[in-house]
Amino acid sequence: MTKENKKEGDLMDKIVSLAKRRGFVFPSSEIYGGLANAWDFGPLGVELKNNIKKLWWEFFVQKRDDMYGLDAALLMNPKTWVASGHLRGFSDALVECKKCHERYRADILEKDKKENYICPSCGGIEFTEPKQFNLMLKTFLGPAEDEAHIVYFRPETAQAMFVDFKQILDTMSPKLPFGIAQVGKAFRNEITPGNFVFRTREFEQMEIEYFIKPNEWEDRFEYWLSQMKEWMKLVGLDESKISYLEVPEHERAHYSKRTIDIEFEFPFGKKELYGLAYRGDFDLKSHQEASGQNLEYFDEKASEKFLPHVIEPSLGVERTLLALLISAYREEKTEKETRVYLDFDIKLAPYKAAIFPLMANKPELVKKAQDLFHGIKKSGVYPIAFDDGGNVGKRYRRQDEIGTPYCFTVDFQTLEDDTVTVRDRNTMNQERIEVERVPEFLLNKLK
Ligand code: ATP
Repeated sequence: MTKENKKEGDLMDKIVSLAKRRGFVFPSSEIYGGLANAWDFGPLGVELKNNIKKLWWEFFVQKRDDMYGLDAALLMNPKTWVASGHLRGFSDALVECKKCHERYRADILEKDKKENYICPSCGGIEFTEPKQFNLMLKTFLGPAEDEAHIVYFRPETAQAMFVDFKQILDTMSPKLPFGIAQVGKAFRNEITPGNFVFRTREFEQMEIEYFIKPNEWEDRFEYWLSQMKEWMKLVGLDESKISYLEVPEHERAHYSKRTIDIEFEFPFGKKELYGLAYRGDFDLKSHQEASGQNLEYFDEKASEKFLPHVIEPSLGVERTLLALLISAYREEKTEKETRVYLDFDIKLAPYKAAIFPLMANKPELVKKAQDLFHGIKKSGVYPIAFDDGGNVGKRYRRQDEIGTPYCFTVDFQTLEDDTVTVRDRNTMNQERIEVERVPEFLLNKLK
């Protein structure tokens, strides 16, 4: 193992340990020994996750005027997955490359001199055993467990946006170009899950299907790439770790003229963070044929009907969260110790601020700090933390480690002049501020 590899491995260990210890991510159903590669998001993790989703929804849906939101049922008519192609190859025996996780029918793979299969995608030679495999998770609806009652947990949020395309046209009368956006759970029976929350069998996606006129696809593709770049800047992902992979033709889906994998340098290697694909009219066409319903768009100006083409920016919530933890993790040597803090933007930070009474055994300080705590919440800034355990230095470290940007301490001077100290997480600088100005201070930072 090289020094660099070890450092990166250490970083992953530190992040996983911090996430578990501080209530971001717990192993699922741990009291029963857990469930492999399933994770629960604890009190801080759920805040962080919700903040990511909220920011995404604001940026990609609410602030725009060409976007329509959707929250579709997770279990859809199984015909959806026949038309989308997800059920095809159901009886194929697949092997999965352990390096890049691409799956192939073993019988189409070439072999090297030692009779190892060679991965056409990355050249890897280690594969899982062949398996009858479909990545969709199956269950039954209703009391009978027979063929007629099989349904599948959706493997992506995308298909609902094609299946509901007609309803959006009929109810909202959108004009091209426009998008349908959805955030929600997806399930894939991954053969090789792992790397903490990077690859799990249950995860959340934030996806857009952006419908366009066919001849505009190249410009629109560039535009969506720029939007994704803006998003990554907005949340504070480490730009030096991001790269763009133009997926070569032989690896793209047959209907896609261009696909870019946005990759992130995770401690366990450079891996796909997000995807951006031009999908042509493949999906609408397939659903139109399979359902017998006309899914064409009517262009009033040109007085013509056609199937719009699609650009699809696809983002994973958990991969964003992991990339964010990696981007925000800081270690700083101080005189006595190594200080760890998470450099989250205040919009993403689980707690926006923390309030401390200098001493827990002085009721007048505790009362004043509690009043401030409730006052800040009343002004609309939350969640915030209250901490009176241990000395103030320890409390600062605890808040640093979970990324709380500001700590306010009520001390003896507060009782005299109604000011408190505000301490900045990154610089550790402190200044005094009037108690009544604290909510405004935070509201300004949150703008
Ligand atoms: P990979 O090649 O890593 O398996 P993919 O190409 O199959 O990913 P897509 O089908 O493009 O992924 O899904 C869109 C996004 O959903 C991905 O960019 C990723 O952010 C997220 N995602 C996909 N599979 C998983 C998973 N098993 N666990 C967590 N997030 C996932």
